[in-house]
Amino acid sequence: MPAKLRAIISGAGFGGLTAATALARRGWTVTVFERQPEVRAAGSGIYIWENGLRILEAIGANVVRPDTFHGRAMEQRDGQNQVIDAGEFPPDMRLVTVPRKDLLESLKNTAIGAGVDIRTGAEVIGASAAAELHFGGGHTETADLVVGADGIWSAVRRALGLELFHEQTVEGALRAIIPGTQQDLGDNGRDKYIENWNGTRRFLITPLTPTEMYLAFTCPKEDDAGKISPLDKKAWTSSFPHWSHLIERVEDIIPWSPYSTISVKSWSAGRSAIIGDAAHAQPPNLGQGGGMAMQIGLALAVAMEGVTDRRDIPDRLSAWEQRERELVDHCQKWSRMYGEVSFLPDEVRKRAITHTMADPWVRSQITRAARSHPTGT
Ligand SMILES: Cc1cc2nc3c(=O)[nH]c(=O)nc-3n(C[C@H](O)[C@H](O)[C@H](O)COP(=O)(O)OP(=O)(O)OC[C@H]3O[C@@H](n4cnc5c(N)ncnc54)[C@H](O)[C@@H]3O)c2cc1C
Repeated sequence: MPAKLRAIISGAGFGGLTAATALARRGWTVTVFERQPEVRAAGSGIYIWENGLRILEAIGANVVRPDTFHGRAMEQRDGQNQVIDAGEFPPDMRLVTVPRKDLLESLKNTAIGAGVDIRTGAEVIGASAAAELHFGGGHTETADLVVGADGIWSAVRRALGLELFHEQTVEGALRAIIPGTQQDLGDNGRDKYIENWNGTRRFLITPLTPTEMYLAFTCPKEDDAGKISPLDKKAWTSSFPHWSHLIERVEDIIPWSPYSTISVKSWSAGRSAIIGDAAHAQPPNLGQGGGMAMQIGLALAVAMEGVTDRRDIPDRLSAWEQRERELVDHCQKWSRMYGEVSFLPDEVRKRAITHTMADPWVRSQITRAARSHPTGT
């Protein structure tokens, strides 16, 4: 029997844990190095579209519970609370929203169940194309495959010299989870996600559980009152007065931060690869950054199926990127384009959303990643 191949992964986020589980299930010995003292999610809630749900089902991660919120529409409203676009989802495109910590916990437990060794408090400071990860104190781990899943500021991407550009948006968001129920959304808001626009401010309401809601407050960096934390409730209520009962409930808030777009020359160098935000971060307008991290992580493991000689790994990595990258680039491009809507004058935005969202081709482009059948599912 050939010796087991070993993968070492930097980062226990959505991408790293998905790749780890999928590789372990294919017979690899897998170690994940996470710099935080524990596996911990940053952020409030997360949208998981059809593609993400298929991946979770394929790796056996259980995040959907009987009381998980399934939205049936993403409604767009203007500053007067008038509906701009009703945004109903087709029945074959599921969408759920869950607390981030629940998704990460489920991925962590699934990885451990598959035999993955997760080491916390382990910060990677460098990597090489020969599948090495470097740590402080001159320590190096070597393997057959390295996966850099260490997020936007990826040390692995930097060490491998793969970055083309890292661009930050003018727009950013503050995020909070508040107590709330469907009754808070009014009769015409039930079972929906509601995105509200006024000037350059955007307010997204996302039910999470029967008793919790996730709120995102989006504004440009020059909006001092909008971006300050603790939240300036008066400033946000003045933009969205009909939602004052929700804004009032905000206690802890994740401070404003901009979004990143990362573009790289290649997803790999030698026997080292990068996935997720490290390779293809995108603004969150389509709610697909985490979905794409899991999708590319699972596809990477599928690309390694049947490898017995590590010398075949670089070619397998090239084939993996060739197969997967077009969809990821498409999703990143459309997410960035959607972000431009924030900067249109209100009346232009209203017309732009009404007309473009009524176009089936535009809708199909926006939902292409969500409707995709990820490799390995
Ligand atoms: C406001 C906002 C809303 C979003 N909403 C959604 C959404 O609804 N749906 C969706 O799919 N996506 C969403 N995203 C995007 C999503 O959060 C990211 O795309 C996703 O977290 C990327 O996963 P990842 O595993 O690649 O990286 P990360 O989640 O960033 O995980 C990286 C991990 O690596 C660790 N790490 C970093 N550096 C090192 C190091 N040097 N050594 C060891 N470990 C290290 C980190 O601690 C972390 O645990 C949103 C993003 C933002 C900003």
